[in-house]
Amino acid sequence: MNPTVLYIEDNPLNMRMVRKTLANLGYDMIEAIDGLSGLDIALRQRPDLVLVDVNLPDMDGLEVMARIKANPQSASIPVIALTADTTHSDRERCLSAGCDGYIAKPIVSIELKNLLAHFLASKSGDQMPV
Ligand code: MN
Repeated sequence: MNPTVLYIEDNPLNMRMVRKTLANLGYDMIEAIDGLSGLDIALRQRPDLVLVDVNLPDMDGLEVMARIKANPQSASIPVIALTADTTHSDRERCLSAGCDGYIAKPIVSIELKNLLAHFLASKSGDQMPV
């Protein structure tokens, strides 16, 4: 079974780019375009990893992450935040809020690949080079 990644993102271009990358890497993907539906999917379907855009239309992505971590059902799911704000303070804000990882936009596909391999290596049947 392929690892499943939930991507919560309101920007269709980023969604398309990540969809392509995940397909190439052999991951299954669930898509959500706002925080509330993403949260709902995370709790119900419990993906192996969550990627969350920090700037969502209805809810701060860090709030989505905090709610995932607050629920015992989903607390162990790694959450990686994506943000267009590449300042050092924003990175710190994501990590100190409790995110497991951080990716700056524009998303670099190899960077995404390496982070996913790091968190999902144990979930995958194949050994993935980091
Ligand atoms: Mn956004």
